[in-house]
Amino acid sequence: MLKVTKSLLLFLLLSPYLLFADGHIFVYHRFDDSRYPTTNISTRELRKEFNYLKKNGYKVVPLIDIVNKINNSEEVPSKWVAFSIDDGFRSFYKNGLKVFKEYNYPFTLFIAVKYTEKNYKDYVSWKQLKEISKYGTVEFHSYGHGHFGQMSNEKIKADMDRGLALMKKHLNYEPSLFVYPYGEYDSRVEKVLEAYNFKAVFNQNIGAIHGGTCTDANDIDRSAVVGSNAHDFKLYLKFQELCGVHFQEPTTYPKDRVVKRVVVTLDDKSIKSADIFISNNGWTKVKVHNGKIIWNANKTIKLNRIKIGVKVKSRIKLMVLSK
Ligand SMILES: [Zn+2]
Repeated sequence: MLKVTKSLLLFLLLSPYLLFADGHIFVYHRFDDSRYPTTNISTRELRKEFNYLKKNGYKVVPLIDIVNKINNSEEVPSKWVAFSIDDGFRSFYKNGLKVFKEYNYPFTLFIAVKYTEKNYKDYVSWKQLKEISKYGTVEFHSYGHGHFGQMSNEKIKADMDRGLALMKKHLNYEPSLFVYPYGEYDSRVEKVLEAYNFKAVFNQNIGAIHGGTCTDANDIDRSAVVGSNAHDFKLYLKFQELCGVHFQEPTTYPKDRVVKRVVVTLDDKSIKSADIFISNNGWTKVKVHNGKIIWNANKTIKLNRIKIGVKVKSRIKLMVLSK
């Protein structure tokens, strides 16, 4: 009896943490290539991050393990982390791969097929991809890495079909995972991609993966870590996914580059305040009334691709709008 009470007490004490312990997916691009500081990480920094995971009991799993949890409507276990690498830059093959091998950490490389097919010098070759696929999986990131938001449905389909055919031809592989070029998408683009039946589609919005009924397999968040910001890496690991978020305004990129109003509804009606993020403007604290945020922001934006986000304590959700 005493034992039961004790363990029940322990369960109640721990349960808030268990409930919000989400998985995380990180994305990298270039390794030890300081020519491109906004997409590069040094292998020294990468080792620091990997050591942090080792020391703090994180489990690095193949990306597909997280996808399977989401597709089975199961919650992603506490402290699961998965790694993805975008574009197929040669610096991954030259510098990054050996660190992943050293730590025996699985990874998924998303390639923009055109760069490999046309032998661009900064990108991996088909031969190198075959070697890479002994240690991780190679998945799909379009053929031409275009701005899907600005391409017609027909153009998007032609691009997808061309890339997939080349992957089949050179790697004898039919990808089941996809990443939007530039992390750009909208409901039209999402609809075009539905025909391809990917097990999961990923964006590049900072966030966490709760799983269960919270995470949309066709819109999975990944956090990019660049430069020497192991600090950001640790911060991102603390985030949980804010579930039940519905972005209502704005729904398109504002032509005059002013975000006039932000309207968001939250399923959790008990939330009284939140922080709203707008690119170029940082975070602002706002009030929530009965699950609704209506904020007359009037914020000027400069980037052609902006993110708008909501944060409640350490739970976070972002979305992207492109010009
Ligand atoms: Zn990319």
